[in-house]
Amino acid sequence: MDSIFHAMNPTSIPLDRFNRDSQVVFFTGAGISAESGIATFRDPDGHWSKYDPMKLASQAGFREDPDLVLNWYADRREAILQAQPNAGHTSISDFQKLFKRSVVITQNVDGLHERAGNQTIYELHGNIHRHKCNSCGKIINLANENMRELKRCDCGGRVRPDVVWFGESLPRETLNRAFNAVQSCELMFSIGTSAQIYPAAQLPFEAKSRGAYIIEINPEPTPFSRKADVSVRDDAGSALPKFYEEFHAQFK
Ligand code: NAD
Ligand code: ZN
Repeated sequence: MDSIFHAMNPTSIPLDRFNRDSQVVFFTGAGISAESGIATFRDPDGHWSKYDPMKLASQAGFREDPDLVLNWYADRREAILQAQPNAGHTSISDFQKLFKRSVVITQNVDGLHERAGNQTIYELHGNIHRHKCNSCGKIINLANENMRELKRCDCGGRVRPDVVWFGESLPRETLNRAFNAVQSCELMFSIGTSAQIYPAAQLPFEAKSRGAYIIEINPEPTPFSRKADVSVRDDAGSALPKFYEEFHAQFK
C-alpha cells in the first residue's frame, strides 16, 4: 500500500493553507483500531459477520437475553484492555502538539484515543468501559469489574454498557460539540470509517460543505471518497505518521 501513498502527489496538499492556529478535526472509526487487533464491524472478518447485531446491540436483544449481550461486551472489553494504541492513535497525539486547536471525534467505544494521550475526545457512540442504568440513565461506577451478570440500579433498572445501540440516539451534548467543531474546522482527517452509520457519517460531508480540506485514510473506498480532497488507500498506522512528517516539516 506504500506505493499508493507515494502515487498520490504529496505536494498536492496545500500545506501553506494551514498554520499552528488552524482548527483540525480527526474523525475516526473502527479502522483506526484495526491495527491494534480490535475487529471492525463491517469488514468480512468483523463482528457483524459472526454475530447478529440485532441480538447484541439493541434494546430488544438485551431484553431477550441480557446474559448473551453482557458476556459479548465483557469479552470485547477484555480484548480491548489487552490491546495497545497503535501508530495511528499516537500520531494524532503528535499532530495535536502541532495543532493546538484540534479535536478527536470518534465512533469508537474502545477508549484507545484516550490511552494514546489524545486530547479533547468526543465519543459519539459512548465508551465500552463505562456503564449506565437502562431506565434512569444514571452512570453506574463498577470500578474495574468486567460485568458479566446482570446488575440493577437503585431504581430497579438494568445496568448496561454506556454505548449507543441500534435505534438509539447519540448523546446530544457530545453530538452538538462535534458538529460545532466540524463547522469551524479547516482541516479534517477522516480515518478508518466506512462512512455508513448516520448521523456520524454526515460529519465529513458537513465539514466539506463548510469549506474544510479533507484527507481520508482507508484501505477501501467509501461513499465519502469522491468528495475528499485526498483519499489515501492505506492503513491508518502507516499513513498518519507520513502525513505528520509532511506537516511537521512545513511548520518547523
Ligand atoms: P466499520 O466497521 O463500518 O468500518 C471500518 C472501516 O475501517 C472500513 O471502511 C475499513 O475499510 C477501514 N479499515 C480497516 N482497516 C483499516 C486500517 N488499518 N486503517 C484505516 N482504515 C481501516 O466502522 P465504523 O465506520 O467505525 O462504524 C462502525 C460502528 O461500529 C461504529 O458505530 C462504532 O461505534 C462501532 N465499532 C467500534 C469499534 C471500536 O471501538 N474499536 C470496533 C468495531 C465497531
Ligand atoms: Zn436507574
